[in-house]
Amino acid sequence: MEKRNELYAGKAKSVYTTDDENLLVLSFRNDTSAFDGKKMARLERKGAVNNQFNAFIMEKLAEAGIPTHFEKLLSAEEALVKRLDMFPIECVVRNISAGSICRRLGVEEGLDLNPPTYELFLKNDALGDPMINESVAHSFGWATPEQMEEMRALTLKVNDVLKALFLAGNMLLVDYKLEFGVFDGKIYLGDEFSPDGCRLWDKDTRESLDKDRFRKGLGDVVEGYEEVGRRLGMTFKYD
Ligand code: C5P
Repeated sequence: MEKRNELYAGKAKSVYTTDDENLLVLSFRNDTSAFDGKKMARLERKGAVNNQFNAFIMEKLAEAGIPTHFEKLLSAEEALVKRLDMFPIECVVRNISAGSICRRLGVEEGLDLNPPTYELFLKNDALGDPMINESVAHSFGWATPEQMEEMRALTLKVNDVLKALFLAGNMLLVDYKLEFGVFDGKIYLGDEFSPDGCRLWDKDTRESLDKDRFRKGLGDVVEGYEEVGRRLGMTFKYD
C-alpha cells in the first residue's frame, strides 16, 4: 500500500489517498481544537495516543460485531481505513448530563440519564454543529430513515460495549460522538473514537480524563488520555 495525496485536513487528523481507491490513510496530528475551532493548541504525543487508542477501541467494537472502517495500524500516528462516503451527521449518546445538553436545557451536570439520550447534530463548524433530527436529515437527503435507524442502533450498541469496557477501568463513559459512512452499500462506523470525542470521568472522583481537560484549561490533557489507556491495559508507542 502506497500513501499518495492529502485529500483533506481536519482539525486533528489529515486524510490521504492511497494506491487503492477503497483505502485511506488517517494521520493523527498533535493539533487539538475546541469550540468549533476557536481554541487551538498543539499537544505533544496526542497524535500517537489518539491513533493507538482509536485502533484499540475499533478492534474491541469489531469483536462485538460493529462494522468499522478500521483496517490496521500503519505507524505510531497513522492507520489504514476503508474509504467511506460519510454522512454529515454526528450521533451523540449521553449516559450522564454534561456539556451542551446542560447549556441547552438548563440542567445540572452529573445527572444519570436512563435511558441514555440520543441526539443528532449537523457536522458544520461555521454553524456551530446545530442540532437536527431524523426528519430534517431525511428531508435534506442526508440519510434515509432506514440508514438513520441503523446508525441509532449501532450507536446504542457501542454504548453497551464501551460503558462496560471503561467501567472495568473504573471510568464512567459520560457521553460520546460517533460518525458513520457507507462503503459498498453498507454502513460502517468511521472517523475515530478517542478521548477527543467522548467524556470519561474517574468513577470515584468524577475527574475528567478527556478533552474537557483542554476545554476547561485544566492541563495534563494528553496525560489524561494516557491514563485512560493505561487503565485499559494499553501501552503507547511514540516515534
Ligand atoms: O458538546 P457536547 O456536550 O454536545 O458533546 C457531547 C460529546 O460529543 C462530547 O463527548 C464531545 O467531546 C463530543 N463531540 C465531538 N465533536 C463535536 C461535538 C461533540 O466529539 N463536534
